[in-house]
Amino acid sequence: MRCNYCEWRCKMPASICHMYEERDGRIAEVYPNQWTTYYLTNAEGIPLFHGWPNHQFLQLGAFNCNASCAYCINSRVAIEPEKKTFRFQLEPDRVVKIAQKANCSGIHFSINEVTVNLPSALAVAKEAKKEGLVVGCSSNGYFTQEVADMMLEYFDFFNISLKSLSDDYYRKHAGLKSAAFVKRNIEYLAASRTHLEITTTVVQTVNDHEITAIAEYLAGIDPQLPWHIFRLLPEYKMKDRTPPDIKEISDKVQECRKTLPNTYFSNYIGTQLINTLCPSCGQVLIERICAQSCGAFLSAYNMKNSTCPNCGTAVKMTGSFYDTSCTDDREGKVC
Ligand code: SF4
Ligand code: SF4
Repeated sequence: MRCNYCEWRCKMPASICHMYEERDGRIAEVYPNQWTTYYLTNAEGIPLFHGWPNHQFLQLGAFNCNASCAYCINSRVAIEPEKKTFRFQLEPDRVVKIAQKANCSGIHFSINEVTVNLPSALAVAKEAKKEGLVVGCSSNGYFTQEVADMMLEYFDFFNISLKSLSDDYYRKHAGLKSAAFVKRNIEYLAASRTHLEITTTVVQTVNDHEITAIAEYLAGIDPQLPWHIFRLLPEYKMKDRTPPDIKEISDKVQECRKTLPNTYFSNYIGTQLINTLCPSCGQVLIERICAQSCGAFLSAYNMKNSTCPNCGTAVKMTGSFYDTSCTDDREGKVC
């Protein structure tokens, strides 16, 4: 029997991610409802720059992964969980109660690859949807199309990591066979009604030459797609690498914004390329502050009904701005 959660399509009992087994004639999770991490973040920290601005989310992560990226910042839980990762059991209704108690608008699956513990994530998603919460994930996008359909039923948003356009990169640096499945899924999600953002980590001399090509590829799918570029944070097997030059990447990002206006360069203190500008008149529509590593905070929201207040151009935005300066109840805060 084969597992069809991701494009490895492992033949049981072999399971590359160690998370599924054949049981009673079906593919079953080995560790249902077991997690390693939960904490609060804002949408900008996910990152979501064009969805649910300033809303709070509960981030939930499990362990193991179907990839083995050489720069994985979560390698302890995603690639080497045998290193005594603390795990805990949380049933779906309990997760939702925690999110509600913390005044979260939604739940975000991250830390490891959600595909490898998808039945548990979907169980949480179903409970969350009953309570009106938003649900989504960060993913390496290596899932099968069948699984994309399963996720689309319950997930409102996706942040897909597009590591490169090249199969060679995926094989050498991500431990995956091909970029083709990830690109297919990006195109599939973009054609659906879900909210989609893309993230790419730039590794100097490895994929920095691809920045323009990736922007053109994404603009061909949807010129309003938000794209987050991060500099390598030297980690795991790339600890000895030098982070890419900020000036060099910034110049390329400025160029990319001509074809893909919602391109961002986020993970360094003082970046201005974290703000959303009106693609027509250049007005700053959303100001953000980089919060070290990959985090960010919204500091000013100047849009009116997802349009530029200066020239009226419509800008991609899902969900309303959560205005913490309002003193009304939760409903009133969504201005
Ligand atoms: S989810 Fe895991 S077991 Fe299933 S195909 Fe992918 S790597 Fe193999
Ligand atoms: S896909 Fe994400 S979690 Fe998995 S190894 Fe790569 S960076 Fe780590």
